[in-house]
Amino acid sequence: MRSAVVVGAGLGGMAVAGALARSGWRVTLLERADRVRPEPTAVVLWPNGVRALRALGLGAGLDAIATPLPDGGIRRPDGQWLVQPRPTPAERMPVVVHREDLHDALIAGLGDQVELRTGVGVRTVRAVPGERPAVGDGRHTFEADLVVAADGTDSEIRRQLAPETTVVSSGCAAWRAVIPWYRAPQLPADQSVHGETLGAGYRFVAASLGERGTAGASRRGGIYWVATAAGAPRPEPPEIQLALLKRWYAGWPAPIATLLEATDPADVVQQEIRELRPLPRAYGFGVGPGGVVLLGDAAHAMPPHLGQGACLAFEDAATLAGLLRESRLPDAVTGYDRLRRPRAATMVRQTRRMSAVLQTRGRLALRARDAALGTISPRMRSTAAAAAAAWQPPS
Ligand SMILES: Cc1cc2nc3c(=O)[nH]c(=O)nc-3n(C[C@H](O)[C@H](O)[C@H](O)COP(=O)(O)OP(=O)(O)OC[C@H]3O[C@@H](n4cnc5c(N)ncnc54)[C@H](O)[C@@H]3O)c2cc1C
Repeated sequence: MRSAVVVGAGLGGMAVAGALARSGWRVTLLERADRVRPEPTAVVLWPNGVRALRALGLGAGLDAIATPLPDGGIRRPDGQWLVQPRPTPAERMPVVVHREDLHDALIAGLGDQVELRTGVGVRTVRAVPGERPAVGDGRHTFEADLVVAADGTDSEIRRQLAPETTVVSSGCAAWRAVIPWYRAPQLPADQSVHGETLGAGYRFVAASLGERGTAGASRRGGIYWVATAAGAPRPEPPEIQLALLKRWYAGWPAPIATLLEATDPADVVQQEIRELRPLPRAYGFGVGPGGVVLLGDAAHAMPPHLGQGACLAFEDAATLAGLLRESRLPDAVTGYDRLRRPRAATMVRQTRRMSAVLQTRGRLALRARDAALGTISPRMRSTAAAAAAAWQPPS
C-alpha cells in the first residue's frame, strides 16, 4: 500500500489527505496545533474551487452547506456605483460557506482511514536521493512514499526546499466575522447584504450565509463580512479594533454600520495579509522512488482580494489526487509541478493587479482609480473570473 504524510490539517491538507485515503493510500496527517480547529469565519468559493471539491468527491457535502453569492456590484464610500451589480450565470456564480461547515465536510471526508496526529510540529524534511522522503518533529521521524507540505504560509518544509522564497507583508490587514443567524440584523427589503465597497486603501465586503439549516442540516447561517485596510494589524484588544472599524467605515453605505454594530468583538478575527515573493521555483521534488510536494498557502500564499487561496489549495489537492490515480509516483510529482506552477503564477499575477487597484491612496490617484475602476475592474474581474473558471481537474 502506498503511503503519504500530509503536514498541516488546514483546508488544503484535509482535502488532500481525504482524497488520498479514498484512493487507497495509507495517510498520516500531522498537525502542529493541539486541536484541528476551523476559523469562525467564512470563505467564498469560486467555480474552480467548487469544481475541485467535486473532483475530490466532496460535492454532496458542499451542496449541503453552500449559499450562492449573487454579484452585489462595487460602490464607493459615498454610495455611488463604481460597478453595477450584474446577473451572473449559475455556472459562474461563487458560493459562500461557513468555514466550520466546510471543516465538518472535510473531516467527514477523512473517514477512518487517515491517522490524524495533533501536537506534531514538523521541523525537518529529508529529501535526499536514494532515500524515502521523511519529516520529523525532533522526536519522531515520519517516512512515506509521498510527503505533502500543506503547512501554510510559514511552511517549514518550503523554507528548507525552496529557500529562494520569502514571506512578505502585503501592506494591509483584514478583519473578518460571521454574525450568527440568531444575531443577524433584519435589513429593509430594498437593502442587499451582498456587495463590495471600495475607499482609499479600505474595502468592505459582505455576504449572506443564508438562514440556518435552509440547505442542509449542518448549515450555520448568518452574515459574513470582511474589512481590509492598508497598514499593519492593530495591537489593541478586539473591542477597540471593532470600535476602530466603526470609525473607519462610518458614513459608508448601508448596511455596513448595521453589520458592525451587530458584531460581537469576540467574533472578530484579525489577520495580517502576507504573500510569498517570489513563488517557489518548484512545487514538486522527486526524492528516491517518491517525492515531496508543496500545496496550498505553503506553495502560493497570496492576498485574498480575488478570494482564490482556498480555491487553489483545492485545485492543488484535486490535481495531485488525479495524477496519482493515473501515473506512477515520480511522474505524478513531475506532472503536479508542471501543472500547478503556471496556474498559481497566473492567479498570483491577477491578484497583484487587483491589490494595486485596491490599495490606491491619495486624492489624484484615487480619482484616476475611480475613473478607471468602472472600466478596468469589470475587465480585470472578468479576466480573473475567467482564469479561475477555466480550471479543469486532470481527466
Ligand atoms: C482575510 C482572508 C480572507 C480569505 N478569503 C478567502 C476566500 O474567500 N476564498 C478563498 O478561496 N480563500 C480565501 N482566503 C485564503 C484561504 O484562507 C487560504 O488560502 C487557505 O486557508 C489556505 O489553506 P492551507 O491549508 O494551505 O493553509 P492553512 O489554512 O494555513 O493550514 C496550514 C495548517 O498547517 C499547520 N501547520 C503549520 N506549520 C506546521 C508544522 N510545522 N507542522 C505541522 N503542522 C503545521 C497549521 O497549524 C494549519 O493547521 C482568505 C484569506 C484571508 C487571510
